[in-house]
Order: sequence, then C-alpha cells, then structure tokens
Amino acid sequence: MEIRVIDCDAIVGFVDYGTIDSEKNGGYSTKMRCKKCGAAWLAENYVTGHDTCPKCGATGKKYVISVE
Ligand SMILES: [Zn+2]
Repeated sequence: MEIRVIDCDAIVGFVDYGTIDSEKNGGYSTKMRCKKCGAAWLAENYVTGHDTCPKCGATGKKYVISVE
C-alpha cells in the first residue's frame, strides 16, 4: 500500500514528500528537505536520498537536512 507523506507546517506551509510503500521498511520513511532549492523528498525513495537532493543535486549537511 502506498502511503502519502504530507506535512503542514506553520513556517513552510504545505509540504508533499511523495509516497512510500508500506511493505518497504515497514512504512518507515525519512523526510528530507533541500535548503538550496526547497525540494522535499523521502530518503528511502532515492539511492543517495540521505545526502543528495534529487532535484538540484546539492549534497552535504549544509543544504540537505532531515526533518524530524
Ligand atoms: Zn535541491
């Protein structure tokens, strides 16, 4: 089953991180944001998702941050 991961935050507003398959990782997902281009994604959906922005290619903790 696909689970859509969406956040609604007072500061950044509506954020759509995409979908995660609940069969995969038990539905666990890591929400990521890029401070350079503003992209939002789930780390598990990309091979380098934990440290590289899939949209602009920015890498490193200076730009790529995980969301609690
Ligand atoms: Zn980016």
